[in-house]
Amino acid sequence: MKYKKFVIDANLGRLLKYLRFAGFDCVSANHIGDPAILRICQKDNRLYLSRNKTIPLLLKKLGIKIIQSVEYHAQIKEIAQITDFSPENYFTRCIECNNELSDQIPDYVQKPDHVKENSFKFCRHCKKLFWKGTHYQHMCSEIEKALNLPD
Ligand SMILES: [Zn+2]
Repeated sequence: MKYKKFVIDANLGRLLKYLRFAGFDCVSANHIGDPAILRICQKDNRLYLSRNKTIPLLLKKLGIKIIQSVEYHAQIKEIAQITDFSPENYFTRCIECNNELSDQIPDYVQKPDHVKENSFKFCRHCKKLFWKGTHYQHMCSEIEKALNLPD
């Protein structure tokens, strides 16, 4: 089974951003209690990702992936073993709030002049504008680097 949706522990913040960037639907477990984690995982068929080796009793009913690596490239590589990274899904989801990004940019949003018109995406939820600039390129190349780590 290939997972597409996750709930991610607070101690995996960087991995959370990279997975959202790669298009995966990721809810942060930060500030939500175990009963809510259990409910969300069961309702949406999400895999719970954690670095904690001691799992609270309530969550033992869930499928849980314990992330072994501390370093985030190695963490991405661990996820690549249970799901597929497809570049066509990159840059489709807001790394801040997890909502899907839109190609429609509202007129009131100020766009930087130096950026090509068709490289913008907008988050309707947190009203943030994203574009394919250096940050985008950096994240793509870091994922690439992670996926090419030796097994
Ligand atoms: Zn957002």
